[in-house]
Amino acid sequence: MASTIVRGRYVVTGVIDENTSNIIENGAVFQRDGEIIEVGPYEEIRSRHQPDEEIGSSDFAVIPGLVNAHHHVGLTPFQLGTLDMPLETWIIARWALRDVDPYLDTLYCAMQMIESGITTVMHNHMMARLPSDAGLYESGARIIEAYEDSGMRVAFSLSHRDQNHLVYEDDERFLATLPATLAQGIRDYLGGRPISLEDHLSVTAELIDKKQSDRTRVFISPHNVHWCSDEMLRAIKEFATRHSTGIHIHLQETVYQKMYGARNWGKTPLAHLADLGFLGPEVSCAHGVWLTEADIDILAETGTAICSNPSSNLRLKSGVAPLNVLLEKGVTVAIGIDEAGLNDDNDILQEMRVAQKIHRVPGVASPALTSHQILDLTTVNGAKVTLFEEQIGRLEPGKRADMVLVRLDRIEEPYLDPDTDIVDALVYRGKGIDVDTVIVDGDVLLRGGRFQKLDKAEIIGRFKETLARPLSPAERRRGDLSRELLPHIQRWFEGWELDRGTPHYFYNERA
Ligand SMILES: [Zn+2]
Repeated sequence: MASTIVRGRYVVTGVIDENTSNIIENGAVFQRDGEIIEVGPYEEIRSRHQPDEEIGSSDFAVIPGLVNAHHHVGLTPFQLGTLDMPLETWIIARWALRDVDPYLDTLYCAMQMIESGITTVMHNHMMARLPSDAGLYESGARIIEAYEDSGMRVAFSLSHRDQNHLVYEDDERFLATLPATLAQGIRDYLGGRPISLEDHLSVTAELIDKKQSDRTRVFISPHNVHWCSDEMLRAIKEFATRHSTGIHIHLQETVYQKMYGARNWGKTPLAHLADLGFLGPEVSCAHGVWLTEADIDILAETGTAICSNPSSNLRLKSGVAPLNVLLEKGVTVAIGIDEAGLNDDNDILQEMRVAQKIHRVPGVASPALTSHQILDLTTVNGAKVTLFEEQIGRLEPGKRADMVLVRLDRIEEPYLDPDTDIVDALVYRGKGIDVDTVIVDGDVLLRGGRFQKLDKAEIIGRFKETLARPLSPAERRRGDLSRELLPHIQRWFEGWELDRGTPHYFYNERA
C-alpha cells in the first residue's frame, strides 16, 4: 500500500445533524497505508504531503464508502425465474431456483455493489442454500474469499432455522393436511440434508477462527424468530457473547410474522426476544416493518438496531417500515438492499432515494427524512450494525480510507442551482452509473468505472459457463415440488384474517 491524496470539488466527511453535513469545498483526503491522516482544503493538504499518487479532481464529490446493511445472494430470485410474491409464498417458490457457484455468485454481486459505491456489506447467507456438493465450511469460506478477492469489507453470517419450514406452524401438522405423495416428497427434501444447531455453531466458530480479518467479520444468524426454537435462540446469543461477535436476524418482516407472535406467545416476536434476554447493541434486525410502538421502545432501550430494506418490502408486499418513528425514538437504523432493489440491481444510491421518498407521509407537519439523515443511515449507522464503527463511516483522521468518488457531470448538467447542497444532489439525482472510483483501506478497487483487481468480463464469462449447464435431476425435482406445494401454502395463509390495527403512517382513506 502507499499514500494518496484523494480530492474533489466537494469532500463530504460525514453528517453533522439532520440538516447539515461537513462539506469541504475543493477538499482532499490524505491517506497512508489505508489510514486517513488528514482531511482539509486541497491546497493545504497538497502543500503538506507528498503522496505516491493523487486521485480525483474538481469533477468529483468524495464521500465515505457506503454500507449495504442487508444482503443475501448475487443472482436475484427474479433472474433465477421467480416473480415478486408475498414473502410467505415467495420463499417456497425459491425452492425452484437453481444452484449457483457461491464464489462466482458472490463476486458477481460484489462487483455490482462496488460499482454503486458500496464498500461494506452485511452478507447473510442461508445455510440451506449452500450447494450440497461441498462442505458447509468450504462453501461459507468460498463466499468470504470472493469478498477478499473483491477488496470489500464484509460482515458475513450463515443463517439457520430449525422449525416451521413450510408455513407458520409445525411441519408435521401442516404436512398431514397435504396429499400423501406430496407430503412424502417434502419430507424427503427437507430431511435430505439435515444441518444441526451444532453444525451451525461449529462452522461459524471455524469461520471466525480462520477467516476473520481486518476487512472480514463473521457474525452468527438465526433466520427469524418464528423459524427458530427458543433453544436455538439462546444458544446463538450465548455463542455471540462468547465470541464477542454480532447477531443478524430477520424480524417482523410481514404482518403474518407479527400475528404469529400474538398467537404463540401473546406478544410480538421482538417482545419474545426481549424475554429471552436476546437483544442488545450487537443485535441487528432486518426489515422490522411490523413493529409496534412498544417494540420501538424495546429497540431503543436495548440498543438493538434495524436494517431497513424499503424496496424489498415493496416488492414482497411486506409494507412500509415505521422509519420516521424509529429515528424519532433514537433507534439505530441502517439501509439494506436485500438484493431486491427496485431495478433488481444493487444500486445503493437508488435505494437511498427509495428510503427517503417512501417515508414521506401526507401532511405539512409530518416528518420527512432529509438527505443528510439518509447519508447517515448508509454510512455511520451501516458501520455500527456491521461492527466496523471504529474503522469507517466518516472521512476523518484515524479512520480507514474507505471512500467513493462520484462524477458530478450527469448530476449537475446542464444546470443545477449552485446553492443546492451536494448531499441533496447525490440523494435526489445520484445513481450507480455516476460512481467513478471506489477505495477501501486505501486500495483502489474501481477507477474510471473499471475494476483494478478483478477482470469483470472474465468473471462474468466464467459465471455464464457454469450457468449454461442444464438443470440437474435434483434441481428439477425441487422445482416440481415447489410448484405443487405453492397453492397449498397460499391457501393456508389465506385462512388468516389480517390484523387491522392502527398504522404508524396513513396514506389514504376509503371513507
Ligand atoms: Zn433478508
